[in-house]
This record gives sequence, C-alpha cells and structure tokens, in this order.
Amino acid sequence: NIYLDNAATTAIDSEVLNVMMPYLYRYYGNPSSNHSLGRKVHEAIETSRRTIADILDVLPEEIFFTSGATEANNWAISSSLEAYRIKHIITSAIEHKSILETFTEHFYKNKIKLSFVNLDRKGNINLNHLEQLLVENPRSLVSLMHVNNEIGNITNIEEVSELAKIYRGIIHSDIVQSLGKFPVQLNSNGVDFAVGSGHKIHGPKGVGFLFARKRTNLHSLLHGGGQERGYRGGTENVASIVGFAKALEIANSNIEKVHKHNQTLKERLISGLKRLDLEEFEFNGESESLSKSVPNILNARFPVLPNNRLLQNILDEQGIHVSSGSACLNLSKGGSHVISALYPKSDGENVRFSFSKYNSLFEIDTAVRAIAKVFKQEKKRFLVKDL
Ligand code: PMP
Repeated sequence: NIYLDNAATTAIDSEVLNVMMPYLYRYYGNPSSNHSLGRKVHEAIETSRRTIADILDVLPEEIFFTSGATEANNWAISSSLEAYRIKHIITSAIEHKSILETFTEHFYKNKIKLSFVNLDRKGNINLNHLEQLLVENPRSLVSLMHVNNEIGNITNIEEVSELAKIYRGIIHSDIVQSLGKFPVQLNSNGVDFAVGSGHKIHGPKGVGFLFARKRTNLHSLLHGGGQERGYRGGTENVASIVGFAKALEIANSNIEKVHKHNQTLKERLISGLKRLDLEEFEFNGESESLSKSVPNILNARFPVLPNNRLLQNILDEQGIHVSSGSACLNLSKGGSHVISALYPKSDGENVRFSFSKYNSLFEIDTAVRAIAKVFKQEKKRFLVKDL
C-alpha cells in the first residue's frame, strides 16, 4: 500500500503506541479515584497536559482535552458566542466543516450575522477586506484556520490576530494541520481559542484539545463528574491523552527534518505531474508553492476521465490511497466545498496528495507512473508526453 492521505489521518507511531499500552491494560484506575492507582493515572493526564502546554508555550490550565478537533471547534465557537454576546462572525468559505456548520447553525438559530472574508483565486485571505469587516463590525468573532487541510495554504495568524485585536475581536483558529509541523507558539500569536487533534500527527484518533486563553470565558461543555476542571465531565480517554502528548513531543522535536523530507517528496511529485503535460491540469490553491503552503499537501486538478471513472478509484485499486479532498466531507455530500468555493466553474477531478515521514521518493515515483499509465490509455483525449 502507498498511503498518500496523511492530511486525513496518519499511521500511529510505534513509540506512541508503546506509551499508550500500559494505560489500556496495567494502569486501568479511574483518574478521579482517590487511591494510588487512580492517582498514578491522574498524574499521567496532567503530565501530558504539561507536555502539550510547554510545546505550545501556554499554561497547562489553558489546555482542555476533548474527543478531537471537531468537538473542540464546536465548543470554542459556542462558548465564545455566548460568553462575549457576539453578534457577528467573520470566517472564510474554506474553513473546516466543523466550523462552518457550527456557524450556520448559530446563524439560523440565534440570528448571528455571518461574513465571509474575500479570498483570491488561490485561497489567500484579503486582509484589507478583513479590516473593512472589522471596522463595520467591531467585537466580532474571527475564525480563520492556520493551515488549510485541502490545499495546504498557510494563513499568517499573527497578522490576523493583530488586526482583529485593534477592533476588539475574539480570535479562534483551527491549528490541526499546523500542529507538530511548525513551532506554533500560542502565547505570542494572539489567538484566544485554538484546537488540535491527535490523529493528524501519528497519534491516536478520538483525542484533541481546546486551548482557551486564561482570561477568556468558557462555558462547561459536559456536566458531570468535574473532570477537566469542571468544564468537560466524563472519565478521560487516558491512553489517548498520553499518546497524543507523546506524538506531539516526537513531531515537535523533528519539525525541520520532517519538513525537509516532505518538501523533497512534494518537489518530486510536482515535477513528476508537470512532466505528464496533461491538458487542463492545474495545482489548486497555493499548494504548488513551497512557501505559501505546507510541504505535506499537494492538491491538483486532473482532466475528467471518460465513463465517470475516477482517477482516485483507479489508483485505489492499485493500493495507492489519495483523497478527493477532506475525508469528513466524503461522508456527507461528496465533492469539496474548498475547491468549489475557489473554482466554482472548473469541472476537473481534484486529488489531494498528502505525505508523512513514512512516505518515500519511491512511493511518489510509483504514484506518478500509475497516473501516467491511466492517462496514456486516454492518449487520444489527453496529450501525455515523456512517459
Ligand atoms: N480541522 C481540520 C483542519 C481537520 O483537518 C480536521 C480533520 N479532518 C478536523 C478539524 C477534525 O478533527 P477530528 O477528526 O479530530 O475531529
């Protein structure tokens, strides 16, 4: 198998699995129990919280463990809208669905005004328009992600925060795709709320965090046993929390190495795909750029194959796993809201390739050869050179 869908999820690192195992088997005490086994497990949670907080340069009490980034996004948004009596939201059309759908619900239910910041055709935020929206609507909730999960675009969150603060905005940022890939310093980048997820960084699925800056108002998400300092009741997912912290620790100490590795893979894939010289072929968003997008994501538009055949499916039959966009999206409506927001008129097939430290140049070459073969068979329709 050649797995090129690492923006959807990643393989768990064996080192991560090793630190999780004792908490699935030997240390089974309830972290809230007041005996030594309970206390040991409780200590493991708090050590993990400190590890994550240190890496993000925030306080441990600013980190709340959740079941993932979807939950954390829902929580951050509902909390901030309620606590700050927000009347206006500023976001973009290419945010993750866990953000857009939460906003849509508040828009309909609570009549909160929703504005979308203008994007250029490559998905970059127009800061002048953002400022204009802020001038018209001070004290807005501004929600913009750090790295886009489909096209890899990087947004300068420091700049967004600085601007929003001038107009007394509250800033929320989904940092799922930048966590462990950049040295994200939440203390200095000005955001009030941020969310991360374990399974995008070779950690376990079903665990994430909400960062809520100390002075921000947070409402309790789940009432119950007083866990997570009373904000999210329910016995903690101990093994996954321990695994998440380990995964972030590993990712954080290998940022440069993995960045270079992914960049090499991306450059090889870009040149391999360009050499095919396909008609109507294009890279989506900023994904071709090595500075404006992350090195582990490349999103490309291919010519449509006859008879409704999908390139993604043909590759899958050969054990090459790529995505047509966000995996969460395939479960709901199909197609990508990110690509259709940026390119409403284009009708090619969009494929997202996303890499990790476990991929090799050989795998990239194999994928390019497989794609070349598909289009070679369609020679009459597409110009394929240099196979
Ligand atoms: N935000 C982004 C940018 C993501 O890529 C994802 C995963 N598709 C999520 C949020 C949701 O994370 P989780 O699976 O932990 O709920």
